[in-house]
Amino acid sequence: MRLSRYFLPVLKENPAEAQIVSHRLMLRAGMIKQAQAGIYSWLPLGFKVLRKLENIVHEEQMRAGHIPMLMPTLQSADLWRESGRYDDYGEEMLRITDRHGRDMLYGPTNEELITDIFRSHVSSYKDLPMTLYHIQWKFRDEIRPRFGVMRGREFYMKDGYNFDLTKEDALHAYNRHLVSYLRTYERMGLQAIPMRADGGPIGGDYTHEFLVLAETGESEVFYDSEVTDLSFGDRAIDYDSVEQCQAVLEEFTSRYARTDETHDEALFNEVPEDRRRVARGIEVGQIFYFGTKYSEAMGATVQDRDGKPVPVHMGSHGIGVSRLLGAIIEASHDDKGIIWPEGVTPFHAGIVNLKQGDEEADAACETLYAALEAAGLEPLYDDRNERAGGKFATMDLIGLPWRITVGPRGLKNGVVELTSRRTGESEEMPPEEAVKKLVKIYEGHLVKGL
Ligand code: ATP
Ligand code: MG
Repeated sequence: MRLSRYFLPVLKENPAEAQIVSHRLMLRAGMIKQAQAGIYSWLPLGFKVLRKLENIVHEEQMRAGHIPMLMPTLQSADLWRESGRYDDYGEEMLRITDRHGRDMLYGPTNEELITDIFRSHVSSYKDLPMTLYHIQWKFRDEIRPRFGVMRGREFYMKDGYNFDLTKEDALHAYNRHLVSYLRTYERMGLQAIPMRADGGPIGGDYTHEFLVLAETGESEVFYDSEVTDLSFGDRAIDYDSVEQCQAVLEEFTSRYARTDETHDEALFNEVPEDRRRVARGIEVGQIFYFGTKYSEAMGATVQDRDGKPVPVHMGSHGIGVSRLLGAIIEASHDDKGIIWPEGVTPFHAGIVNLKQGDEEADAACETLYAALEAAGLEPLYDDRNERAGGKFATMDLIGLPWRITVGPRGLKNGVVELTSRRTGESEEMPPEEAVKKLVKIYEGHLVKGL
């Protein structure tokens, strides 16, 4: 992309309404624009990152054997009356009446709708296990929408639902989700720690929330510092293996790590004092096993091996895709702007032309641009007729992990400069070398974008 042809409305001033750094930087970098309280338009740069996150989620869900689909945002109130949640859900549910006087709602989650689809089409244990998921906009009429996309009213969520014959099978699905979530967040450059949580209006005894530690997080968390040493890494996993998934769950959840809802002071005090941590975190996902709560209420049964109808065991699993943008920025920025992890960056490298209009510099930038694209990378070329200082400031603000600076002086010696946004370190090298180096850096980090 050439910056002269892109739409990147960066702001020079700090917007007064933004209280936390991620919100401030998303507005300043021209990623989002508030449409109404808690409702945002996703401008091109923000949309590009959102799509990448979405694609990482898809890749990891499909890798775990979960099946993508799409359900509507508007749902019928009658389904929610069947489960009893139409009255229970309270003011967070946006209720709508159509021209025929029928009650509808903008879905805050989809347990009822998916259970209805399931009961209409599945009647035998032979079709199980099955996990369906979608990534769709949700609406919750939060009393205090704030912090930008972090606590929106309209937000983008991956929600998945497992259907299993037995509790044992459903717990395997639970563990499988835990593993796939660990992989998902790590690919986004995040450490998200699974913590024992509370079921809330979804219900259920088994539930973990995934928390990214950050001072601005809304949840208070208590944990054994050893949990921060764990990482899933690139180990192989067989998602069909009950033992392997169970072992990962045990590895990642056996130490003390809880949100304030389930915090138990006495248990916490058993952790050696020097490892006890009280901090704040951003909830970026949650997994639940809730048994037959919805299947019994809504008649979602299958015939078991003896031909007897039994309610299916279910769980649901959510990732806050739009909130993740805020969480990533909270975890990765400095006073100049965002620092995107390689796995989610909107563009892989910025090209800064120090002397726009200089024949040699222009030609070198064009060659670089073409070479990066040919290698499957997405460059953002700042080809505007602007001062170098302004170009650097924009690149730093929007946070591309790598910048290539091209100027007449370097070109005389046949070199350009490759700079890391994270460390600020620069290295001079021939342009072909820079391309090669970037290709290597992004190996295993390429995600389909837009
Ligand atoms: P919270 O406790 O933050 O209100 P929740 O526990 O009610 O969230 P879930 O039903 O578990 O949310 O939804 C799954 C994920 O969706 C959450 O882990 C979170 O990342 C995201 N999410 C929930 N509410 C919002 C919101 N208002 N804005 C943005 N993301 C949200
Ligand atoms: Mg939750």
